[in-house]
Amino acid sequence: MDLSLSDEEREIRDWVRTFVTREIMPLESTVLERERRGERGLRREELRELRDKAKQSGFFGVQTPEEYGGMALGAVMTALIEVELGRSFVPFSFGGDADNILYSANDEQKQRYLLPTIAGDKISCFAITEPGAGSDARNIRTAAVRDGDEWVINGEKTFITWGDVADFVMVFAVTDKEKGADGGVTCFVVDREAGWTSSPIPTMGEWGPASLSFQDVRVPHSAILGEEGRGFELAMRWIGKGRYMLPARALGACERLVEMGMEHARQRETFGEPIANRQAIQWMVADSAVEIEALRWLVLTAAWQVDHDIDSRQSQSMAKLYGGVKANEIVDRVLQMHGGMGYTRELPVERWYRELRVLRIYEGTDEIQRRTIARNLLSGHVSVRGHLG
Ligand SMILES: Cc1cc2nc3c(=O)[nH]c(=O)nc-3n(C[C@H](O)[C@H](O)[C@H](O)COP(=O)(O)OP(=O)(O)OC[C@H]3O[C@@H](n4cnc5c(N)ncnc54)[C@H](O)[C@@H]3O)c2cc1C
Repeated sequence: MDLSLSDEEREIRDWVRTFVTREIMPLESTVLERERRGERGLRREELRELRDKAKQSGFFGVQTPEEYGGMALGAVMTALIEVELGRSFVPFSFGGDADNILYSANDEQKQRYLLPTIAGDKISCFAITEPGAGSDARNIRTAAVRDGDEWVINGEKTFITWGDVADFVMVFAVTDKEKGADGGVTCFVVDREAGWTSSPIPTMGEWGPASLSFQDVRVPHSAILGEEGRGFELAMRWIGKGRYMLPARALGACERLVEMGMEHARQRETFGEPIANRQAIQWMVADSAVEIEALRWLVLTAAWQVDHDIDSRQSQSMAKLYGGVKANEIVDRVLQMHGGMGYTRELPVERWYRELRVLRIYEGTDEIQRRTIARNLLSGHVSVRGHLG
């Protein structure tokens, strides 16, 4: 068993680390100031400029296949990159990516949606959640009814990331009520011009999703992504694209937060001594470091299984659950280590505190991950001994 990085992995990881340190972190105070004023932290042209800079060094489309100009990196490498990006709260990601399910599009759809999304000329959003169907996504009610060569879509979607800025939506609608999620849900790719509307949802985070409304939105039959009736499988494929990536980013945030906490603890004196000398503080540091290490290996195990075509669903759920829970505990401890300052808006700790909270909710809540993990074990599908057996 070799738990070390290859030379190539180390080289790419170090390149990203340097990029984040030199190009991203210096923007943090500006981003924080803007967000405090209620503005977008990173402007669209700034994001594009940063992405162009990375692209000049060949950094484009981390997981995008080479035939589309991407780097086609594996899951472990992607996780290592996400950890580095997670060390800053500046909302940055490398350009050149597109939703995995768009690669299942037909040639015409690829030209119209996939290629412009990779190029950064179009923004997509993925819409399955509804006011009455979140965890229970099989229960969606948005309906599409066939009318000659067209489909007419009616329904409401909610909490859709990028929903307020997206140029097109991949929306999931019931096309056969009898079959429901088992062959009766279809995915449609729909341009904003077709008539759906969006409305932003304010959240405790710095970026908000949106609700979408479809009222007699007409689309041609050719708007179907994949096959009619097979939409639910596509939705699950989109959600399963890499659950390890969210906790990977959170892992980077935890590393940085604990570093900040330690620096503060060394400097802050109470009762004539740095608080770093106090056992109460040391235990916070120790527990956080152990949990960070455990999370690292949960994330990398899941990613390694993806790279080796091993069924990774259990590991991904474990990484997502543990990452969400522990990142929230760690940011809370680091806030506590900072005392009153941690609670202020002068430091970014409270920002991370608010942002990390959503990790326990989207792309499968804690409870839904636990449900999956327990079901897999109780049905005998997997063993508590893990993949080593
Ligand atoms: C910021 C943000 C971005 C999002 N982005 C998107 C997006 O881009 N596209 C999209 O389609 N959706 C998106 N979502 C929706 C997200 O996936 C749902 O919010 C999530 O799946 C939970 O659904 P819900 O909010 O309806 O909660 P509910 O399903 O109503 O759950 C409420 C509570 O009950 C628990 N619960 C539910 N069922 C069970 C059960 N069987 N056993 C035990 N506990 C249970 C849940 O864990 C939760 O604690 C986003 C959400 C947020 C907050």
